[in-house]
Amino acid sequence: MAVEWLTFHLTDRCQLDCQHCLRDPESKPKDLDRAIIRQTLEEGKRIYRAFHAGFTGGEPTLHPEFLGIIDDTVALGFTWHMVSNGKTAAWLFEKLLEKPSRKDAMTSITLSLDGADEEMHDGIRGAGSYREVLRAASLCQMHDMKFVIQTVIHQRNQHQIEAIGLLASQLGAARLSFAMTVPTGTHFDESFYLTPKAWRRVMDRIDRLSATLKLTISSPEGFWNQQPLHVCAPFASQQLHIDVDGNLELCCQHAGVPQQEGARTSQGGNLREKSLTESHRSVLGIIQQAQLDKLEAMTQGSFDQGWDEFPCNWCLKYFGKPHWDQEGAAGPGATRERWRGAWSKGKSLPIVQ
Ligand code: SF4
Ligand code: SF4
Repeated sequence: MAVEWLTFHLTDRCQLDCQHCLRDPESKPKDLDRAIIRQTLEEGKRIYRAFHAGFTGGEPTLHPEFLGIIDDTVALGFTWHMVSNGKTAAWLFEKLLEKPSRKDAMTSITLSLDGADEEMHDGIRGAGSYREVLRAASLCQMHDMKFVIQTVIHQRNQHQIEAIGLLASQLGAARLSFAMTVPTGTHFDESFYLTPKAWRRVMDRIDRLSATLKLTISSPEGFWNQQPLHVCAPFASQQLHIDVDGNLELCCQHAGVPQQEGARTSQGGNLREKSLTESHRSVLGIIQQAQLDKLEAMTQGSFDQGWDEFPCNWCLKYFGKPHWDQEGAAGPGATRERWRGAWSKGKSLPIVQ
């Protein structure tokens, strides 16, 4: 077990309102306190010898102190990367070039691309977004910055898996990552749903694409796993995630999503009140209990061979968060309106078997 990475959910601010976005913030978006980030990085380096920081959001560059946070990160000897919608790429490169130490410590930028064409991508992420991602990718090429294309895959765009692979290759991405959609508790879930069987076919196509292209293709945690007691990077403590309120969370998929009343906590504590190591101790207890309960379910035969074999889905269900089941999305619904009020009811789409 080695804590290598610290990931920070910097801000809920974002210019987009993607239909699969996990964030469901109040009208006033939050920003993670810069002092908490600095203190966590210091402790992470001193105690764990962590060496890498990841920044997510929202759109991380919209944190009012984004550049200061990057400078703190670099001054403490960390390398860093961020996930971005690409809209501020021109500004970002200007600021990286102003102070080359920022760029020297940056390992890559992950750009979100949800379709192989404008119609598909913009239909999910909003008009004009596709062209901005392509522009961001060419800026990365121009400035010799490694970039990763990340696609959240689901019912609506799964037919474009191969086309997205070709596009990412053509753009010069260092890697293509296909992430499995998790439900958000909004009515959009219905149009994203795939059955476990359909997900297995998606995985098969990703594997075949990976064997065909020279481009590295990866899939983060979430997809079907044959081993029920499989341990993900957060469960192995390879990565500690700090949410926008300063809580040590299991991972970004748990952060800020609706939770059923009375459900188990997935948080180790708030870093304003507890140290990183104290909070980590609590997270280890939470993980151990989750694994014990899973083992019990496996022994009792209540661990089903459909959705429970998808590790993140089991985990989200266990902690009372939105998750998939045989019928579609289950668990708590989003209780607040999405932040730009994009709440017109969508059309029902057929379930892909
Ligand atoms: S998923 Fe879309 S709306 Fe949500 S933070 Fe990312 S870019 Fe913004
Ligand atoms: S949702 Fe649970 S199983 Fe999935 S990566 Fe996060 S902590 Fe691990």
